[in-house]
Amino acid sequence: MKLIILGAPGSGKGTTATVLREKYDLAHISTGDLFRYNLKEGTPLGIEAKSYMDKGALVPDDVTIRMVEDRLNNPDVTKGYILDGFPRNIAQAEALDAILSKKGEKLDAVVYVVTDDDIIMDRVTTRRVCEKCGASFNVKYMPTKVEGVCDNCGGHVVQRSDDNPETVAKRLATYAENTRPLIDFYKERGILVEGNNNVDADTCIKSIEEGLKGLGLV
Ligand code: AMP
Repeated sequence: MKLIILGAPGSGKGTTATVLREKYDLAHISTGDLFRYNLKEGTPLGIEAKSYMDKGALVPDDVTIRMVEDRLNNPDVTKGYILDGFPRNIAQAEALDAILSKKGEKLDAVVYVVTDDDIIMDRVTTRRVCEKCGASFNVKYMPTKVEGVCDNCGGHVVQRSDDNPETVAKRLATYAENTRPLIDFYKERGILVEGNNNVDADTCIKSIEEGLKGLGLV
């Protein structure tokens, strides 16, 4: 399966992608994680991305597309993958079509995680992530067993610098302007499946799996 997962920042798409990755043995390709890794390592790519990320703006398309194309040449993608955080606008979606058609491949489905903005603001500003393995926690809804320590790997659990209310509001506006148009773009192709994550992750996953079943993918 070659999937995209779409949804506003903080909609729960990362968590949903993790469930799908584990259940269907997919590679999970998160552009946000790739940028954060480069940032931590101090690579030229990370240094370039930082100023955009800090403002809640999108990193320029040429840089982002090159990074994804590189990642899609990694051998682990042959088992199938889920793209999380990419594409983020129509230009990136068209670039992805071109990358895939060069390989004689196409997308199987686009998973859309629907969550209201007020719920997102509450969840994201209380979110914490492991610096080492990327696992996500929440001080209100899913605290770590030991404060600041990852339950999975013992890594240091921190708040992302862009998870503050001002940057979240900016990221939601960036999403509405640039990324939301992708919903219709993929709906017209008949490959969009939806899950509502306002209440809980299980209900959301269930509708998504029904959608994937409807497309004959699971
Ligand atoms: P995320 O973890 O997906 O919320 O991404 C964090 C930040 O990384 C975003 O606010 C952007 O600055 C940058 N980013 C991630 N994916 C992309 C993308 N596809 N295009 C441009 N910028 C991106």
